[in-house]
Amino acid sequence: MLSFWESQTWFTNVDYCIVGGGLVGLSTALNLRDQFPHSRILVVERGCLPSGASTKNAGFACYGSPSEILDDLQSESENEVFLKVEKRYSGFRLLHSWLGSNKMGFEANGGYEIFQAGQDDLYSDVLTKLNFLNQSLKTIFGKDAFLTDNSSISKFGFKSINQSISIPHEGQIDTGKSLFNLVKLAHEKDITIINGLEILNFEDSSDGVYIHTKRFDFKVNKLAICTNGFAKSLLPFLEVEPARAQVLITKPIAGLAIKGVFHMNKGYYYFRNVENRVLLGGGRQLAFSEENTDELAITDLIQTNLRSILLNYLLPSTPHEIEQSWSGIMGFGVNNSKEVLIKSLSKNVVCGVRLGGMGIAIGANVGQEVAKRLS
Ligand SMILES: Cc1cc2nc3c(=O)[nH]c(=O)nc-3n(C[C@H](O)[C@H](O)[C@H](O)COP(=O)(O)OP(=O)(O)OC[C@H]3O[C@@H](n4cnc5c(N)ncnc54)[C@H](O)[C@@H]3O)c2cc1C
Repeated sequence: MLSFWESQTWFTNVDYCIVGGGLVGLSTALNLRDQFPHSRILVVERGCLPSGASTKNAGFACYGSPSEILDDLQSESENEVFLKVEKRYSGFRLLHSWLGSNKMGFEANGGYEIFQAGQDDLYSDVLTKLNFLNQSLKTIFGKDAFLTDNSSISKFGFKSINQSISIPHEGQIDTGKSLFNLVKLAHEKDITIINGLEILNFEDSSDGVYIHTKRFDFKVNKLAICTNGFAKSLLPFLEVEPARAQVLITKPIAGLAIKGVFHMNKGYYYFRNVENRVLLGGGRQLAFSEENTDELAITDLIQTNLRSILLNYLLPSTPHEIEQSWSGIMGFGVNNSKEVLIKSLSKNVVCGVRLGGMGIAIGANVGQEVAKRLS
């Protein structure tokens, strides 16, 4: 139960309440603050830190590798696919405009899609369509987005990976630093953030939204639900599936040659350097149904697979040790659809969820759209 002081100070006259303190929740709050300099904005996060994807991701500033875009074109129209790439690109620029390179630990080291031995068909399919992709994406990136490049691959020391396409516009961020500074910016902009409070359910009524937690209830004028892969617990009718993603990071490796962000197997594996360590994630395709969970855990199957990818392909002749493994929870649509779900549920309640695997790029844009719909 709250004291008079607590309810007066934190929970009375709240204009906008945002559930979820990840990238999208914070972006929604920052966009609302731009529009309403004097409003009361409250972000409620159930974890002591954001506890989904935003502080656990791999930190790729990426907008779609060639084979991922071609894959999307199998089921979506050209307009839809290229608009999605544009939104990712403009979303990242918005995030960057708030924080700047330094506070994000942003490095423009570029990216690569790489092809393992045995993937010649995939590589040649991508090659034949590269010109079409570059023409279609030119208005977004201002130059060729993808370059054939089999020469730089040799410098990384990989084994059984002979072909690559370079993606010069890609970069990498320090995920922890970015979220730390986004939270700091929200505080500077007089946005209240409460951690350790889980919203259990809510009632939408003509005079506002009544919010229920385990210990107390409160009323706000408008509510944004930015809970990504956990969306179904508050909105069970939404088509959002949790998708666990596991990663590992090595201990520092002297003289590490790998630099940049790398996509492998149509994005099912991804790795990058973090200074002189390698961060590697993926393998979800090995156990789709088991990984269709919102439980933060790691499994032997996937961690063993990631270790074998390091050993057999990425660091075949470099001694290395694993420092840490972890997982995060993403949100996808049914059949792994990557379509972001932004929906007005009433005039007082909007959700922005189901960010898929490229939320760093598109997240700020989603926040902007949610804020616009709420205002
Ligand atoms: C391992 C991994 C690697 C990734 N790599 C990349 C990458 O390299 N590049 C990229 O662009 N994207 C990447 N992503 C995806 C990206 O991190 C996400 O798309 C993005 O962070 C989603 O942000 P969000 O705010 O929507 O969700 P989240 O960060 O999951 O935030 C939702 C928050 O809501 C909170 N919450 C849930 N329910 C409640 C409730 N009832 N009450 C209160 N709070 C609640 C959760 O605790 C959580 O903190 C990766 C994701 C993972 C897991």
